[in-house]
Amino acid sequence: MLHVNENYSKIKPTYLFAEIAHRVAAHQKAHPDAKVIRLGIGDVTEPLAPSVIAAMHKAVDDEAGKGDFHGYGPEQGYAFLREKIAQVDFQDRGIDISADEILVSDGAKCDCGNIQELFGADVKIAVGDPVYPVYVDTNVMAGRHDIQLLPCTAENSFVPGPEGCTADIVYLCYPNNPTGAIATKAQLQAWVDWANAKKALILFDAAYEAFIRNPEIPHSIYECKGAKTCAIEIRSFSKTAGFTGIRCGYTVVPNGLVAYTADGSEVPLRPMWMRRQTTKFNGASYITQRGAEAIYSPEGQRECRDIIDFYLGNAKLMKDALKSLGYTVTGGDNSPYLWVNVKGDSWAFFDKLLKEANVVTTPGAGFGKAGEGYIRISAFNSRANVLEAIERLKKVL
Ligand code: PLP
Repeated sequence: MLHVNENYSKIKPTYLFAEIAHRVAAHQKAHPDAKVIRLGIGDVTEPLAPSVIAAMHKAVDDEAGKGDFHGYGPEQGYAFLREKIAQVDFQDRGIDISADEILVSDGAKCDCGNIQELFGADVKIAVGDPVYPVYVDTNVMAGRHDIQLLPCTAENSFVPGPEGCTADIVYLCYPNNPTGAIATKAQLQAWVDWANAKKALILFDAAYEAFIRNPEIPHSIYECKGAKTCAIEIRSFSKTAGFTGIRCGYTVVPNGLVAYTADGSEVPLRPMWMRRQTTKFNGASYITQRGAEAIYSPEGQRECRDIIDFYLGNAKLMKDALKSLGYTVTGGDNSPYLWVNVKGDSWAFFDKLLKEANVVTTPGAGFGKAGEGYIRISAFNSRANVLEAIERLKKVL
């Protein structure tokens, strides 16, 4: 008899975005003329940077035989991209990461989900609450059900510390989705010191690092002393360069980072991740990687920064408006997300904004128990829609 992986029955139904879609569809059916503005899902709205578009057109010509045709590429990514990443994202910032420690992928979601395969079924996991659901669900699918939740609340400025954390692996994400909170260097250093002392691992998701504008805030976990012996960092070009539909990201697994066998022998993780990727992944496309490479040219950097400044401008407009209406708002300064304390039930507030303002947000309760009482508002939209949404919010709140 075919036995199913019963761990799947233990995953909580991912009803959040389905439920939002259902409520929005019902509202639109009842009010067909309503112009609904979506500030819910965190997907980019601006076109790709011109340098990226030009590089991808050129790569299409290569594949058309007008230049060097490329078939299968290296599973870990082309050297031309990995070297640029190492230089611009790390070495130019004084961080000692080399190209061979970088493995390119088709996005951060896959890497966030796949990385747990390297670890024993019995390792203990800790995540923030509220949380990006991928960290939890992929561990539950693999049979790890005992997951420690670290409450992220206004009291700890949405950044939990390592005190009381009993896990072997902790997922940290800063700037955070969904709270928009940022972690200081001292806060991240405390986690690094904890992980090194405990022989634990930090999985650091830096998908939103490009939104950091405060020069005191670290962009990488490797800005902390000792992080190379206890942390893997996962990055994405989705929000950095509008690649949500193009699909590219990368993971840094430093040389010398180890986990242990039952008898205490050290096992280096980089060759394991390499083995995993070469077995199960055939690389991001050549065209995509040429596009990603262009992000690292001086013009590409400038263009991507301008696009992110545009989204940050949206975030500031909405944050100022909500604050002037008496709401306490976290995030938005170094992050595309606003985390708004709605002083009540988050689904009820979601419904109010949908029904009375035709504005879609995301109820915080959908990201975990500690998200109750909040909504997440995303800054990914046109300026006209953001200004219109603000006017509507002013009328109903
Ligand atoms: N990590 C976080 C925290 C995210 O919010 C997202 C996407 O929204 C991802 C990872 C996934 O990024 P990608 O589009 O590269 O798969």
